[in-house]
Amino acid sequence: MSAVNEALIRDIVDEILGRIGAPAPAPAAAASNGAAKPDCGCQHRSAGSAGGQCGVFQDANKACEAAAAAYVQLQKGGVAARRKVVHIVKTMADSNAAEWGRIELEETKIGRLDHKIEKLRGIMGVPGVEWLHPYGLSGDHGITLEEYTPFGVIGAITPSTHSIPTLSGNIVNMVAAGNAVVFNAHPAAARCAATAIRAYNQAIQRETGIENLCCIIEQPTLESFKALCASEHVRLLCVTGGPGVVKAAMQAGKRAICAGPGNPPVLVDDTACMKRAASCIIAGGAYDNNLLCIGEKEVFALDKIADSLMAEMEKAGAVRLNSAQLDRLTKAAFTFKEGQGGGCAEPSVNKDFIGKDPAVLARAAGVEIPANTQLLFGETDSKHPFVIEEQMMPFVPIVRVASVEEGIAAAKTAEHNYKHTAIIHSHNVEHMTAMGRALDTTLFIKNGPCMAGLGAGGEGYLSYSIATPTGEGVTNPKTFTRVRRCVMVDNLRIY
Ligand code: NAD
Repeated sequence: MSAVNEALIRDIVDEILGRIGAPAPAPAAAASNGAAKPDCGCQHRSAGSAGGQCGVFQDANKACEAAAAAYVQLQKGGVAARRKVVHIVKTMADSNAAEWGRIELEETKIGRLDHKIEKLRGIMGVPGVEWLHPYGLSGDHGITLEEYTPFGVIGAITPSTHSIPTLSGNIVNMVAAGNAVVFNAHPAAARCAATAIRAYNQAIQRETGIENLCCIIEQPTLESFKALCASEHVRLLCVTGGPGVVKAAMQAGKRAICAGPGNPPVLVDDTACMKRAASCIIAGGAYDNNLLCIGEKEVFALDKIADSLMAEMEKAGAVRLNSAQLDRLTKAAFTFKEGQGGGCAEPSVNKDFIGKDPAVLARAAGVEIPANTQLLFGETDSKHPFVIEEQMMPFVPIVRVASVEEGIAAAKTAEHNYKHTAIIHSHNVEHMTAMGRALDTTLFIKNGPCMAGLGAGGEGYLSYSIATPTGEGVTNPKTFTRVRRCVMVDNLRIY
C-alpha cells in the first residue's frame, strides 16, 4: 500500500472512530514506513495524557492539568497552530452537523433536528484568529503596541439547549485567542459533547501534535464545576446558562464571563409591515422549538393592529389557541408553587414541555394541528406565565397594548432586566429609539427575526455565548484575551 493511501485510510478510520466516540488505533503500520502522523493521546493514557481519552476526563483536576500542558504546546505552535485548530473545528462541525445534530437531539430530547444541524453549520461564521488586531501607537516618545494575549486555561460551562454548538463556538473563539479550555457540560447533554470533544482532539493532535487542547469532564456534576472553578490552572470562567449557574460563577472568586438567561419581548406597532412581522415572529419563535435564549418569547402588539398581526400569523401557518385551549396548555406547561411570589402561587416551567414539538403542546391544549405547524400562539394578558417565564416552547403569547409607551413598559417588565435581547417591528425611528433606550438590552433587533441578531439574516457574527450580565456582549476571540502593553521608549518611530 502506498504511503499516500495509508495516510488517507488512517484519516478515514480516525474520522469514523471519532464519530462513534471510539479511540483511534495505534499508528504502527504507518510508522513502519515513516508516513505516520502523531496519533491522538487516547492510546497513550499514561504517557502524559493525565488519564484523559482524547480530551475526555473523569477528574476535573486532571483535565485542568492536561489543558495547562496543552496551552504551553499551543504557545509553541504559534498563530499557525491556532489557525489550524480553528479550521479543524469549523470544518468538523460542518461535516459532522447531521450526525452530531442527531445525537444531541437523541440525548437531550429537546429542539428540532433541522435547526440543530443548522446551528452546527453556523460555526463556520464564528470569528477566529483574524479577529485579533494589535493596537499600535507611534509618537515622539517611540512606539507602543497593545496585544491581545491569552489567559491560559478557561473553564467553560455549556447549556443543554445547544451543547455541541456552544462548545464548538467557544473552542473557536478561545483557541483563536491562544487559550486551552476545559468544559463542564450540562449533565443532560454531556455524552454528545464528549463525542465532539474526542473527535476534535483526535484531529487536533493529528494536525498539530497538541494533545488535550479542549477537555471535558465526562460526567459533569456540581462538584466537577466547583473543582474547575477552584483549579489553579483555570484563569477565567465562561458560563452559558440560566440564573443558577450565572450566580454560582459570579461567586466563584474568579473573573467570569457570563452568558445568562433572557426572555426576549417583541413589540409590534402600527407602522410595521404585518406580514413581515408575522413571518419573523414565527421564524424566530419556532427556531429549535424556541430554545434560543434570543428567541421571541412574548409579543406586545398595539391594539389597533393586533387582529391583523394574528391573522397574518395564521396565514403564515401558525395555529391560534382559543382561551380554553390556552388554559389547558398553561396548566400542563407550568406548575404553580404555593407560598412564593408574595403569597400568590408562582409558576415554574414544566421541563417536560421545554423544547418540545408544537404537536406535544397542541395535544396538551386539546387541539388538532397540521403536521407541519411551526408555532402556536394565543392572546394573554401581560402577567400570564407564558409572558413572565422564560418558557422555551413553540408557543408565543400575544398581549394587546393601547400605546407604544405601554408596550415598552410591559416589554421591560417581561425582560426582567436581564439586558439580553429585545425586538421591535416598526418603521418609526422614534419608537425604535425609545424601546432601545428603555430596555437597554445587549441585542436589539429591528424588523427581523431574533437570529438576525447573530448574523443569520442580519449583519454580524455568530456566538452561542452572549455575555449579558457581565457586559462583554456577543463573545468573540477578543473577549478571551488579556490586553498587554509593550513600550519602546524614544526609538523605533521611523520618521
Ligand atoms: P441551565 O442553567 O440549567 O444549565 C446551564 C449550565 O449550567 C449547565 O451546564 C448546568 O449543568 C450548569 N448549572 C446549572 N446550575 C448550576 C449551578 N448552580 N452551579 C453550577 N453549574 C450549574 O440552563 P439550560 O437549560 O442548559 O440552558 C438554558 C438557559 O441558558 C436559559 O436560561 C437560556 O436563556 C440560557 N442561555 C443563555 C445563552 C446566552 O448566550 N446568554 C445561551 C444559551 C442559553
